[in-house]
Amino acid sequence: MKIGFIGLGNMGGGMAANLVKAGHAVQAFDLSETAIAHACEAGCTTFGSAKEAVEGVDAVVSMLPNGAIVKGVYTNEVIGHAPAGAVLLDCSTIDVATAREVIAAADAGGYEMVDAPVSGGIAAANGGTLTFMVGGTDSAFARAKPILEAMGKAVIHAGDAGNGQAAKICNNMLLGIHMIGTCEAFKMAEKLGLDPQTFYDISSVSSGQCWSMTSYCPVPGVGPQSPSDNDYQGGFATALMLKDLRLAMEAAESADAATPMGARAASLYEDFAGAGNGGLDFSAIIKML
Ligand code: NAD
Repeated sequence: MKIGFIGLGNMGGGMAANLVKAGHAVQAFDLSETAIAHACEAGCTTFGSAKEAVEGVDAVVSMLPNGAIVKGVYTNEVIGHAPAGAVLLDCSTIDVATAREVIAAADAGGYEMVDAPVSGGIAAANGGTLTFMVGGTDSAFARAKPILEAMGKAVIHAGDAGNGQAAKICNNMLLGIHMIGTCEAFKMAEKLGLDPQTFYDISSVSSGQCWSMTSYCPVPGVGPQSPSDNDYQGGFATALMLKDLRLAMEAAESADAATPMGARAASLYEDFAGAGNGGLDFSAIIKML
């Protein structure tokens, strides 16, 4: 299949390389020269604009920073430029409303399109082990699925347009909340005189157990290897957690959903990122407590 790929950054670079490995011809574009150079090395053919990269393709995949950019790229450079009938897949994390708006514009232009944000970071993008949560019609999902399978380990249909983004921000809001809760529990345990490993041994097999504790423990040396063991380098950046929590708060407001814990998590991550920690893994918030 011939696939146009727009946005070859930390995530998109590895994803495009996995499409090449799966035997697809990838026509790539990014604004950054460095990203273009890496895509070339990975076997993509590179182009000077998104418009050119989507010429003659069967599918378009994008992995871009935010909703405004996604809307601009699809409105000005993909819709009306990719061949009629190409299937469009936006894998960026963006707000639900913009995802629905762009998919409606694609539909009006005669394209089937899905929103397909991911769970998993740069290592999963490089290793082809992302989880995709997909919003769109049954027919669009059926066409997108084999393309996504070349980049991930799980592809789940979340319902209509925008529901992939809805699933992503609800999941990440929960993750932000339970990471802060896990950090609080470990800090309080310490102050009450409990050894962190002993608290882990008890809580990891008790009702407080959660992923933030048993797969991603914020305390160095406790639980399986995680960014805390590497001085909170790598992993999922605090700035990206804050981005997702802000998207979650926007969506909560528009849907009139009560999210008091999500709001508190967003405000704590705002403080932590504002103190210059945006580049640290999100579990580093334990340092602030
Ligand atoms: P990134 O900044 O590394 O990559 C984005 C790329 O888009 C850059 O190379 C940039 O030059 C390019 N770009 C920007 N505007 C463009 C345009 N108009 N045309 C073409 N290219 C353009 O970001 P990333 O970490 O790869 O994240 C991409 C998306 O994936 C974001 O929506 C992010 O929230 C989401 N995400 C990231 C992670 C992660 O761990 N990094 C995890 C899950 C989801």
